[in-house]
Amino acid sequence: MKMKKIIPLSLIFFIATTGCTGPGGFFDDDPSSEEVFVFDLTIDDMWNDIPVNQTSASDVLNLTYELGKSPRVTNLTEIGYSMNGQPLLLVEFGDYDPDVPTVYFVAAQHGNEPASVDSAYLLARHFARAIPEEIDPILENINLAIFVMVNPDGRDAGSRGNANGTDLNRDHMKLLEPEGKIMQKAFQRIHPSVTVDMHEFGGVGSIIFQVAAPQNPTTHPDVLAASYVLETDVIESINEEWGFGSVTNYPPTTSSQDSSIHRNHFAVHGSVSLLFESAVSEEYSERVRLQSWAAIAVIDEVVDDPEYYLDARQSSDSEGQEGNDIVHAYLFECSDPATTETLRILKDHGFNVGYKSGDESVTSIHYETFLPRTSFPNGTALVPMDQIGWRMITELMEYNSAKDQHYSNSPKDRGHDSWRALESVNYVIDNDVCKIE
Ligand SMILES: [Zn+2]
Repeated sequence: MKMKKIIPLSLIFFIATTGCTGPGGFFDDDPSSEEVFVFDLTIDDMWNDIPVNQTSASDVLNLTYELGKSPRVTNLTEIGYSMNGQPLLLVEFGDYDPDVPTVYFVAAQHGNEPASVDSAYLLARHFARAIPEEIDPILENINLAIFVMVNPDGRDAGSRGNANGTDLNRDHMKLLEPEGKIMQKAFQRIHPSVTVDMHEFGGVGSIIFQVAAPQNPTTHPDVLAASYVLETDVIESINEEWGFGSVTNYPPTTSSQDSSIHRNHFAVHGSVSLLFESAVSEEYSERVRLQSWAAIAVIDEVVDDPEYYLDARQSSDSEGQEGNDIVHAYLFECSDPATTETLRILKDHGFNVGYKSGDESVTSIHYETFLPRTSFPNGTALVPMDQIGWRMITELMEYNSAKDQHYSNSPKDRGHDSWRALESVNYVIDNDVCKIE
């Protein structure tokens, strides 16, 4: 990982390498100067500076760049660019000591759910600028990463999707969009123990905040358990401040196990995971306050018990999906434009791929199977359900075209009937399948 320049003597200095307006240094060819960085804020400033209206995407970017002056920011990275070429900024704190968990916030995949961006920025500003008495004890126990604004183009347009109109929170399997690819890259780089996906929702009566834990059944049980502990903690924290019944857990839906959704996808990949969202029925400042409050609750909880969250991540990393008796096999056609990305994802995660033995039509059909592991003979090339899956077999049998509008890769789109998914299939492992010379 590329680290910021290590600055000797003291953390209270920073070197400005651009935009220097001070007097020239001793050396004409050295444009840098040293200034004292003052940690000037407290947590009260975060609550006092909540905006009344949403900040524009360009202002969020400019404000976030300013945080790079703080010596506490380990990395301020343009980790990628949106469809319209706007920088996607990742702010990281802490020294990435592998013995402490990393907590990672992702704000506003949906551009028309803006409060999470303002709260993510305020959180980043707080950690960049607040007094050491408030921040140092936290960063001794966690690393922190904040993806301040995933979808700046959607924020500009007030749209849910990105500039292509794609719902980024249904893109985590296919990774068709630049923002989706960057979220994957950020996750792999950060290797978080805890991941929080920040949204907003319409609001239901007195409920002004929702929290959701991951639901994909292939999530490691320790990750699932820790996610529910964290979810409970956030619910209690919101209830204490806003009153009982102000917060609920996200209602289960048909697609709730979908691993193309952030909280499910990255839980399957080993991180304790939450989604939370404030209600747009509230005033904007209150929405930002709710999001910030919940974010602080998450941080406080992990700081209180860092080993628990670190252990969950490590258990998932070391044990993978062992113990799950459901597997998912996935066939695809080599001519499908999504195939390249699908294969890349699978190979990146160490899975074998192959072709259906004795069936030349493998290159022209596309369907999915969920079967008990025992149905597959040794030597079968299997893609475990954690990569593709979202349903148990009983649900698959009820599959019909009215469901799952999220899946353009699903059999219904290819004219295949769901019963085909129940056929037993033999595969030949061939990791070069579909390789284009
Ligand atoms: Zn959303």
